[in-house]
Amino acid sequence: MRKPTKLMSDQLQLFEPETAEGEGFDPLAYDRYVVAMSGGKDSMGSLLQLLDLGVERDKIELWHHLVDGREDRLMDWPVTPDYCWTIAEALDVEIFFSWKVGGFRGEMLRDEEKTAAVRFETPSGEVKEVGGNNGAKNTRRMFPQVSGNLQVRWCSSYLKIDVASIAIRNQKRFERGKTLFVTGERAEESARREKQSVLEPHDADLRNGSRKTRYVDHWRPMHSWGEEEVWELLRRWQINPHPAYRLGWGRCSCMWCIFGSNDQFASAAEIDPEMARRIADYEEEFGTTIKRDRSVPEMVEEGEAYDMKEEDIDAALSETFDEPAIVEDWSLPKGAFGDTAGPS
Ligand code: SF4
Repeated sequence: MRKPTKLMSDQLQLFEPETAEGEGFDPLAYDRYVVAMSGGKDSMGSLLQLLDLGVERDKIELWHHLVDGREDRLMDWPVTPDYCWTIAEALDVEIFFSWKVGGFRGEMLRDEEKTAAVRFETPSGEVKEVGGNNGAKNTRRMFPQVSGNLQVRWCSSYLKIDVASIAIRNQKRFERGKTLFVTGERAEESARREKQSVLEPHDADLRNGSRKTRYVDHWRPMHSWGEEEVWELLRRWQINPHPAYRLGWGRCSCMWCIFGSNDQFASAAEIDPEMARRIADYEEEFGTTIKRDRSVPEMVEEGEAYDMKEEDIDAALSETFDEPAIVEDWSLPKGAFGDTAGPS
């Protein structure tokens, strides 16, 4: 089902005050658009903004980084990859998956080892592998720690940001034409995000390279948006939100996000007690908890699980998303405007 695209004057206003550093920025002047799609409402909003602006669908590709890789699940919602795939199919845009081999668990369990290779899908259908023998040997053997510093809270950098940069740097196609890399961070989510630029050259940009060039801008179109505007955008497009929102999560990131609140940990433990035990066992084994001042079992104890419906639990814990991506009878999910604990 295709939605008509139209230029929204209220969205055009966004480009003015926020893009002083990108004067003359024309979001339609790129050859390809890569949207970092987590499955949450803000990445969805980024995609919908492109469509509202009239960007041609065959220039858009969604990139979903599999936090747990293609191996053993630990942190993420089981349904997220298929949810993203279903959205891509319904909106008629391409989707590519990418991941660090071994995922979150593999990186966390590094013991005098180099970081694992990155794999990413490509338009030819080939899965390319890069790295695996780079950098110094290192030991982690602890969860990423809650911090604004991406070295300490390594999951965001090693499992998402670096994966995207590696995938861009290692595909020749990005050396031709201009690419706009689009992410959904909003200023009101954290002090760190507030300081992020709306428009800047991407980490993988090489526009002034001497031997080869790669033109990649990084745009954060949701930066000035409030939560209400984002939900209104999803409502207008009748996008079925990720099931985590129906359970009560106000933000959809990893199911066991290290930034989670007590109530989120209590809710996650209620619907997946086995995984709660495995995570608590890792904390014991490492002698270091996810949060500096309390363990996962303590958070579960202190928190209050949301009142969750069986059908929504099943939907979130399923590896397939068995619902339509676009729904006629759209309604605001319970988690909207609720508990917004999540990545900073
Ligand atoms: S959602 Fe949370 S746990 Fe997952 S990668 Fe981001 S910061 Fe880490």
